[in-house]
Amino acid sequence: DQVLLSVTMLRPEEKLLLGALRAEGLTARPLLMEDLAEVVAGRTDGGPPALAVIRNLSHRDAVSVSRRLEYAGVTTLNRSSVIEACNDKGLQSLLFARHGIPHPVTRHAFSYDQVRSAVAELGMPAVVKPVSGSWGRGVTKMANAECVEAWAGGRESADAGGKLFPVVVQEYVDKPGHDLRVVVVGRTPVVAIQRVSEDWRTNTHLGARVQRVEVTAEIDKLCQQVVDVLGPGFYGVDLVEDRAAGELLVLEVNANPEFAKSSAEHGVDVAGLYAAYVAEQVAS
Ligand code: ADP
Ligand code: ZN
Ligand code: MG
Repeated sequence: DQVLLSVTMLRPEEKLLLGALRAEGLTARPLLMEDLAEVVAGRTDGGPPALAVIRNLSHRDAVSVSRRLEYAGVTTLNRSSVIEACNDKGLQSLLFARHGIPHPVTRHAFSYDQVRSAVAELGMPAVVKPVSGSWGRGVTKMANAECVEAWAGGRESADAGGKLFPVVVQEYVDKPGHDLRVVVVGRTPVVAIQRVSEDWRTNTHLGARVQRVEVTAEIDKLCQQVVDVLGPGFYGVDLVEDRAAGELLVLEVNANPEFAKSSAEHGVDVAGLYAAYVAEQVAS
């Protein structure tokens, strides 16, 4: 069976995935954007694809490719609707609220004035973030009203069309100096990693150190709740501990998580587990 791996470029993750898919006996080949025309026209070497794994770097491309494949009748992992939700922190937040998944209190702002009033309502510090983005980019802590004005003042006059919006404004969760990244394959949390950082943003791209931790019953339960809402798939689930409440909250779900470095350091073959899941889907 033919499996496509939709990519922008082959990062270490995608190289591992290609190898692992082939080790499962699948005919796996990379799919670049420029190859998509032939695939949706039904002119694929080796017959119609059984499934496509979506690993494009750009959110826009990931949604575009997965939607086009789905419309052409090809199952994608993750599904396009899931990629869309995961790429938008505002949409995710609405899903979490609707389905009772513990999540920081979040407001949606469509203007600078709505940012000001949401920060005032939630209290300071508060966190402002663009709805799409990763690696901690644009995630800003508003310690006091002056921060809000410094943030808005620099942008408001330059951003006449309000292109920045929507953004989300979130309560600041007082967490211990770390958060958790859990990789989910299908329905199963396969590895949990603690990201320890001096920066309040614990992204590994900002220098957080990582350490493997046990998947506790609480972690497992939150991941099951996420899977119940999004459906089984391949996810990087970010959890933060609210120290005051002593409970974990789901901060966000990533639909295209990186895993090569942590796989090597923690001895969990994420690519192999994902490939086995893909093979199961293809067979069923
Ligand atoms: P990104 O998609 O850029 O990773 P996140 O929402 O995950 O955006 O934020 C990046 C990091 O900032 C998180 O991993 C977490 O450490 C910190 N952070 C984000 N939101 C909050 C919050 N509401 N309270 C406390 N820390 C937060
Ligand atoms: Zn993210
Ligand atoms: Mg994150």
